[in-house]
Amino acid sequence: MTFDEIRAWLVEANPEKLERLWLSADSLRHDTVGDEVYLRGLVEISNICRRNCLYCGIRAGNPKPQRYRMSAEEMVETARLAKKLGYGTVVLQSGEDGSVSAEEIAEIIRQIKRKTNLAVTLSLGERAEEDYITWFKAGANRYLLRFETSNETLYRAIHPPHAQGRYRSGSRIELLKTLRNIGYEIGSGVMAGIPGQTWDDLARDIALFAELDLDMIGCGPFLPHPDTPLGGVRSQESGVEEQVILDKHLPFKVIALARLVCPAANIPTTTAIATLDPVHGRLLGLSRGANVVMPNLTPACYRKMYEIYPHKAASGETPEETHELAVRQILELGRTPGQGAGTSPRFLKNATQI
Ligand code: SAH
Repeated sequence: MTFDEIRAWLVEANPEKLERLWLSADSLRHDTVGDEVYLRGLVEISNICRRNCLYCGIRAGNPKPQRYRMSAEEMVETARLAKKLGYGTVVLQSGEDGSVSAEEIAEIIRQIKRKTNLAVTLSLGERAEEDYITWFKAGANRYLLRFETSNETLYRAIHPPHAQGRYRSGSRIELLKTLRNIGYEIGSGVMAGIPGQTWDDLARDIALFAELDLDMIGCGPFLPHPDTPLGGVRSQESGVEEQVILDKHLPFKVIALARLVCPAANIPTTTAIATLDPVHGRLLGLSRGANVVMPNLTPACYRKMYEIYPHKAASGETPEETHELAVRQILELGRTPGQGAGTSPRFLKNATQI
């Protein structure tokens, strides 16, 4: 798919034509990754963050959230719950918590592997290469790091560098290559509708998914958080010509196009999509190219504190309820909850060639 074709789809408004886009993404999803929907248990292990990303509610500069880090025991217990519920993977996500050492995380990874043998996915932000290596050696399998936007000027504007670190925060695109070389399955993605993002930018983002040959692609709408610098900026008023405007179709266009450019990738229907449309969002994502759901298994007492954007959807009161809701929705669509780790076909193919 060419850049021009991607861009044309992004601005397409004709419902009949869009129906064609949804159908081709859904049929390609069926042919490449099948009808199983993989469940990834998301555990938000800490909201402590040293960064000041302009869009994110748990940025260091926001004094409002009460800060927490789950204990090692709580993390391992939650992984055991994921195992009990039938998951093949657990995703440990956090703010960029500089106060936790690489070795502490490595020990937790080892315990989770020993006690559950689940595939372990990390989403802990930007760290030194040696930390990523330590975690991979401890048994971590996958790393999620969204590059957020491929427009370097916009990226720098919304993503101030880490001030006192002993490494310079590099471009996330370079870090993704590093992570792949270490041996991780790599996942990335963007937010759609960031103030200052143009249609060309978003089309380039999607073309870059293909260039990076991603194993996993997670995308969602930008949702303003009132306690952040971007919280009060309406995209329509960014003053940028060709500003991406978020409407009800946009998040699904990004999912469908991600499927078309990376046919075998694992693509979640994200919580941000479900937050934008709590009734239909998750199901529409699954019908328009996605094959993964990431139910939030974070213990209830921490959930509210991990507020990267307000009113996060698709959660029951407890992890068990959240899980049941996801399974019900998958079955409603006539699909089946996936069994096992759900490793990306691209990764498996490459692994067998070595
Ligand atoms: N500290 C980790 C995890 C961040 S949370 C990291 O930086 O990689 C995971 C994702 O949530 C981010 O990558 C971002 O794309 C998304 N996110 C953060 N704030 C958001 C907002 N206001 N609206 C929509 N998505 C947001």
